[in-house]
Amino acid sequence: MKDYWQLVLTNLKSNLSKSNYDAWFSQVQFSKTSNNGRKLVLEVPSVFNKQYLEKKFNADLKKAVLKYYPQVIHIDYQISEKGDSQKEIQDGIFPIQENSGNLKETLKKAETRNIDLNRNSFNRTTNIHNLNPKYTFENFVENNSNQLATNVAKAIIARPGTHYNPVFLYSSVGLGKTHLLQAIGHKIMENSPSLKIKYATSEMFFNHFIASIQNKNGNSFQEYYRSVDVLLIDDIQFISGKEATQEAFFHAFNELHQNNKQIVITSDKHPKSLAALEDRLISRFEWGIVIDISKPEFEDRLSVLKFKAKKLNLNLTESQLVKIASGVNSNFRDLEGVLNRIEARIKLIPDRAFEDFELNKILSGSSLGSTVSISVNYTPKSTGQILTLVGQVSNLSTEEILGTSRQADIAGGRQLAMYCCKEFLGLSLPAVGKVFKRDHTTIMHAVKKVNKAVEAGDTNLANKIAFIKQSLA
Ligand code: ADP
Ligand code: MG
Repeated sequence: MKDYWQLVLTNLKSNLSKSNYDAWFSQVQFSKTSNNGRKLVLEVPSVFNKQYLEKKFNADLKKAVLKYYPQVIHIDYQISEKGDSQKEIQDGIFPIQENSGNLKETLKKAETRNIDLNRNSFNRTTNIHNLNPKYTFENFVENNSNQLATNVAKAIIARPGTHYNPVFLYSSVGLGKTHLLQAIGHKIMENSPSLKIKYATSEMFFNHFIASIQNKNGNSFQEYYRSVDVLLIDDIQFISGKEATQEAFFHAFNELHQNNKQIVITSDKHPKSLAALEDRLISRFEWGIVIDISKPEFEDRLSVLKFKAKKLNLNLTESQLVKIASGVNSNFRDLEGVLNRIEARIKLIPDRAFEDFELNKILSGSSLGSTVSISVNYTPKSTGQILTLVGQVSNLSTEEILGTSRQADIAGGRQLAMYCCKEFLGLSLPAVGKVFKRDHTTIMHAVKKVNKAVEAGDTNLANKIAFIKQSLA
């Protein structure tokens, strides 16, 4: 984890003036990450340095950090001078646990932790909607895994508050919920600039709520949330177990819903699977439409990867792209993490071509120390290799091999690739099916057909198979 901090600094160095960099970043050090990598703690030499970073360089720092620590949500500062009372000040969001639902206790906890609750109130934010300019529809790749969610998003953009309300969108991490949620906000704002749009994570909502109570301005909190036209609440799972916050949210929800104000909620789980969420909230969430983004298949990952590689201006070969898309099969955030590391390498040593062995290192997480968990359910290297090799011997592109064309030479190449994946990688029929997005019976059929053709004396095909087998060894 620590290694990436150097990359962040290098990135900042190239984007800031030398005097600014030297004055404000040269002494900032990596301290640690916590909360499963969601929180990054930096050590700064003084309170002043911290405040200056927050005020003047917040956006630059966040941008650079996100590139190399894609899972980071909060940045914390720690003052390196010992005994400084401001030691554990957080940027924006503070992790107060409200397990008991006892508000008094929570507030006490917040107090004893010496947290300035005002810091997180909405007054701090200059734009009320809080939208990240990066998360637009233009930057969002539609594909099979998110098709339904995207269609629903488009429908509510066309007629906010009337079509589907609320929309409850769930998926596992890194599949584009936040991106899509914010893209909805951007588009509605573009279409109807007069509408008041509020994006908040449920943690922000919670913190804001606690702050309003401590500052005794609970009414203005309620009024504030009731006055929005489009409420986008991200990661609702974090208010599980927080009864007082759920209560506040419930009232805001009802009021907005009654007035046909659009509500979109995201979560890492289906509403029914959210433990410690009040039944009345769960049933409200199911009033509208509940949709999910499914785990992306190879082609989905490849399309997002190509889009992002192009945006970053990275000249990767087709086989490298295939290798990445097959190797990083967990989520889009991990895919971005890998791509950012590749970008760092290419930009750090621009004169040297980016070689396959370097990619292998990045994919195996060994080049810079891994923060990315790459779950591989088939050998990434070999699948990519087979696609490349079949492409070579059959004069086909990977897209053609993985595509749907029934043209004889393309379908033949595809069957050869299926055969090789099955025979040389020791994969099961369903696993090969996954690579090609086909049913296992289709793979079985392909293997049989290739075997039959070879038995019937198709030497051309036999030679191709021998060549691929040799190349893989
Ligand atoms: P989640 O909220 O589901 O955890 P995010 O919205 O934060 O996921 O997405 C993780 C990263 O992947 C973001 O940087 C986002 O821009 C990117 N991403 C996710 N889905 C897509 C997509 N369909 N097209 C382009 N980028 C995507
Ligand atoms: Mg998210």
